[in-house]
Amino acid sequence: MTESQKLFQRACKHIPGGVNSPVRAFRAVGGDPVYIKRGSGARIYDADDNEYIDFCGSWGPLALGHAHPDVVSAVISAAKDGLSFGACNPYEVEFAELISGLVPHAEMVRMVNSGTEAVMTALRLARGCTGRSRIVKFDGCYHGHADYLLVSAGSGLLTNSMPASLGVPESAVAEVISTPYNDVAALEDIFQKEGDTIAAVIVEPVAGNMGLVVPEPGFLEALRRLCSKHGALLVFDEVITGFRFHAGAYATLSGITPDITTFGKIAGGGMPLGAIAAGRQIMEQLAPLGQVYQAGTLSGNPVAAAAGIATLNALRRLNPYPAMAELADVFAGGINRFAVEKQLNVHCAAYKGIFTVFFTGRSPLRNLEEVKSCDTGTFAAFFRHMLKRGFYLSPSQFELNFISAAHTRAEIDSAAEAAIEFLADMPKMKD
Ligand SMILES: *Cc1c(COP(=O)(O)O)cnc(C)c1O
Repeated sequence: MTESQKLFQRACKHIPGGVNSPVRAFRAVGGDPVYIKRGSGARIYDADDNEYIDFCGSWGPLALGHAHPDVVSAVISAAKDGLSFGACNPYEVEFAELISGLVPHAEMVRMVNSGTEAVMTALRLARGCTGRSRIVKFDGCYHGHADYLLVSAGSGLLTNSMPASLGVPESAVAEVISTPYNDVAALEDIFQKEGDTIAAVIVEPVAGNMGLVVPEPGFLEALRRLCSKHGALLVFDEVITGFRFHAGAYATLSGITPDITTFGKIAGGGMPLGAIAAGRQIMEQLAPLGQVYQAGTLSGNPVAAAAGIATLNALRRLNPYPAMAELADVFAGGINRFAVEKQLNVHCAAYKGIFTVFFTGRSPLRNLEEVKSCDTGTFAAFFRHMLKRGFYLSPSQFELNFISAAHTRAEIDSAAEAAIEFLADMPKMKD
């Protein structure tokens, strides 16, 4: 038995399914999870000292790679002065100033401990500001595990084939409407019928939790137009996209300005941190200034804020983004050329440093319905092949893979080579 297997056996005795988050359990890809004891740059090492080139990157936060020296030393230095005060601290002020400086529409920032919490606060704020209750979301988008957002949600629910969750009462989801991504007509229809009851439309502006699905030209524009017309607030959930494509929000790149933005993942550089950002008028509705309550024992935590500050400053200084984008394109290009040549039911969707290898003949994939055409069994075999070759992908067909600043061209070339080795054994597509 390997060390990882021994750990997993112990874990299963005292942790449900052996894991603290369901997608880590490898149930969608088969086999037992590997236990990671150390990471450095683009590489991680398991309990049996196997080395992997990591494309999961803790599911997105590690844009700088593992254990970046700037981030580690910022965390150590903050920790030496105390882990939490439950009182105001200088780090949270610097963090808020930094976010405001990098994101023009983020005049004010409130810090929380996770992306889930950030979204919960953003939607309460939207409901509080509008006096309305309905929320519109998109099928396959994941916004954390709050009750009312587990409707047609992506990520782990999709991976584990769960339509929703037990324990979520009908009443909790009664005010949420889920509609297909990239479908402007469906959204127009909803607004026409119920426009004056909708508090907010929440969207992953580049969808990552059903695998990579990019917004079609005009989709985000339509969201903005419909929200403004009907007095609803537009919420960009940038928990993945924030600081992923440049040292700022995806909104800035898209030219669409949301009313409220949520951040997480990269913003905390690997520490538990989320944030809600918006214009002053909206943010001043939060307690203690306004009537929308929100709180947290560890919110604005100095160690987490220090990690976030160090991460964002390093990203700004190093600007690894063009190189990250190029590496994802190299990887995707290699796979896609081979797939076309051999007529295989596979393609790699890539966008600025993130990618998903989809096992389907359909391309591009525009929404959840189309994503569901993927062959998850072949993905599972592909995942296991890559793991054996020393490449740790996100363990699900319906997730993103992340290039970090630490990945090199040689690593990407070897990953593409290993992937093509698998594809070479795939049957040709049926016509
Ligand atoms: C990961 C994620 C969340 C939830 O963040 P947690 O920190 O896991 O609670 C919310 N929205 C999106 C788009 C995410 O990818």
